Amino acid sequence: SQASQLPGLDASKLSITKTQKPKALQKPEELVFGKEFTDHMLAIEWNQEQGWLEPKIMPYQNLSLDPATCVLHYAFECFEGMKAYKDKNGRVRLFRPKKNMERFNKSSARIALPTFDSESLIELISKFAQLESRFIPDQRGYSLYLRPTMIGTQKTLGVGTPGSALLFVIASPVGPYYPTGFKAVSLEATDYAVRAWPGGVGDKKLGANYAPCIVPQQEAASRGFQQNLWLFGEEEYVTEVGTMNMFVAIKDKATGQNELITAPLDGTILEGVTRDSILGLAREHLAPAGWKISERKYTMQELYDADQDGRLLEAFGAGTAAIVSPVRKISWKGKMVNCGLKETEESGEIALKMKDWIEKIQYGDLEHEWSYVT
Ligand code: PMP
Repeated sequence: SQASQLPGLDASKLSITKTQKPKALQKPEELVFGKEFTDHMLAIEWNQEQGWLEPKIMPYQNLSLDPATCVLHYAFECFEGMKAYKDKNGRVRLFRPKKNMERFNKSSARIALPTFDSESLIELISKFAQLESRFIPDQRGYSLYLRPTMIGTQKTLGVGTPGSALLFVIASPVGPYYPTGFKAVSLEATDYAVRAWPGGVGDKKLGANYAPCIVPQQEAASRGFQQNLWLFGEEEYVTEVGTMNMFVAIKDKATGQNELITAPLDGTILEGVTRDSILGLAREHLAPAGWKISERKYTMQELYDADQDGRLLEAFGAGTAAIVSPVRKISWKGKMVNCGLKETEESGEIALKMKDWIEKIQYGDLEHEWSYVT
């Protein structure tokens, strides 16, 4: 096709313009997620005549867009969320960046935005993260949140394929999600609003998937629940929690075997990098100890029954921001499902172990192929 003959993303063409006004560093303990940004941004333009243009690192700055730009009208936008970590030798590491790049390409392709060579973008993001290294506090739990974003930039109100696009990456230093240790959350099982559906785009990281989730989240919060537990269908299948994948650990009624369960990637579930990592670690460490590891559908009724029998061992969300987020209870149709924690506990054993294993790899304390040294 013509598109494949256009110039691809070329990391060797990177130009760097450094800021004349370096920012003062925020005290690490005062960082608020997504509020502070680093000195620079990475930006790469694309158009249908020339393909990918030269990548640029430049001072962090406003975008200038015509009010008719297609992203502002028809939501031609997709993004990623990943982190850079500083190891004990001061090296900057990414965690499984190929996974994010694969997902980013799938998201952009779904909304008719251009795709790109993953290796080249990893190289560019690595250079960007290194340049901003002074913003990454070296304490455990701190990192640099990276936000690769792609938007359609064509100036038109016609609904069609964007003829031009902008890929940019910004970075925000972040502290630990739970600065004073885990705090188990309470969920509201949400059936009146649906996050994703078969044939939809819930498995893609499109900005358009997120805005409609805020009102249900406010509703849950107004009743004292931190997050929505997104259900699907008459069967009330459990899908995801807030913006995290959901895991539950249940003891089987018939066999007594422990089972770690998460919903399958059937097109309604975001392909979480943390989800995939937890499944990998569970197959490596928990399966030999007798655990069954399942990607399968499960329902609210199944969780309710397990709780009634004392077989619901624990439940937790999984995502880049918190790694794991333990769940205390789920409100469902006026009933309460307790997720295996004692009143004095803030996390189950599996969630704790997963956080520990993943963090050791992210900070390079445990050498692992998932950790990418920039
Ligand atoms: N589900 C949704 C809807 C999300 O937005 C995210 C965050 N990207 C996740 C799950 C977790 O994905 P990851 O582990 O890649 O952060």
